[in-house]
Amino acid sequence: MPSRSSGAGAKPRAGARRGSSRARRAVGAVTTTKAQGLTPKQQRFVDEYLVDLNATQAAIRAGYSAKTAYSAGQRLLKVVEVAAAISKRRAEVSDAAKVDAAWVLRQWAAVAAADPNELVQYRRECCRHCWGIGNAYQWTPAELKRARAQAKAPAPDASGGTGFDRRREPNPACPECNGDGHGRMVVADTRKLPPQVRRLYAGMRLGKDGLQVLMRDQDAAVANIARHLGMFQDRLKVEGSIDVAQVILAARRRVAR
Ligand SMILES: [Zn+2]
Repeated sequence: MPSRSSGAGAKPRAGARRGSSRARRAVGAVTTTKAQGLTPKQQRFVDEYLVDLNATQAAIRAGYSAKTAYSAGQRLLKVVEVAAAISKRRAEVSDAAKVDAAWVLRQWAAVAAADPNELVQYRRECCRHCWGIGNAYQWTPAELKRARAQAKAPAPDASGGTGFDRRREPNPACPECNGDGHGRMVVADTRKLPPQVRRLYAGMRLGKDGLQVLMRDQDAAVANIARHLGMFQDRLKVEGSIDVAQVILAARRRVAR
């Protein structure tokens, strides 16, 4: 279940793996009294189950036969002493890590509510003629100085002035761009992200098209919250057993007729 993993779910697989190693450390860090009435093998099962909450794998690691591990795991979970030991240890682990359902929910909520515009913006900015005097080409002071130093006669046209600031909005009356300006992508200084945006930011990647900003999945975060609050009844619990092959075969026969 992804909600057991560490994060808000951008990479459930990696997150789950990190989560389990963290859980492993946390389990080791907690000093616990041995649960009452457990055999050493059952105790081992409890320890292993807390690592990844996978009863079958835990049974195998505790020394049960791989062939019968599934049923052994399910049976062990129903043993009263085992169940009690597991819930006690889980409470101890979450106390030690200061992680509980409310904490997990807060992480998801932060991802879901963050405004991506605070991280990456696509801006439309003025062109060189938008705000030049008489809509002539507009320089920055240093550009004009350089252009004059390099220019042979005639001198560069400075009639548009030197007030160019590319961050300004396009001028709707600009005869060159007609108010469209230029598009530019701006990434925020990630050291200075506000806390509510920081959870959304998942790092940078250098791909073949340049630097990519990675974000955690906001839709997944919303879905996780909704599921956590019981808003979806999407438990995929199939009552009885359905032979899918038979269903498909029957459907094909109906179509063929
Ligand atoms: Zn313009």
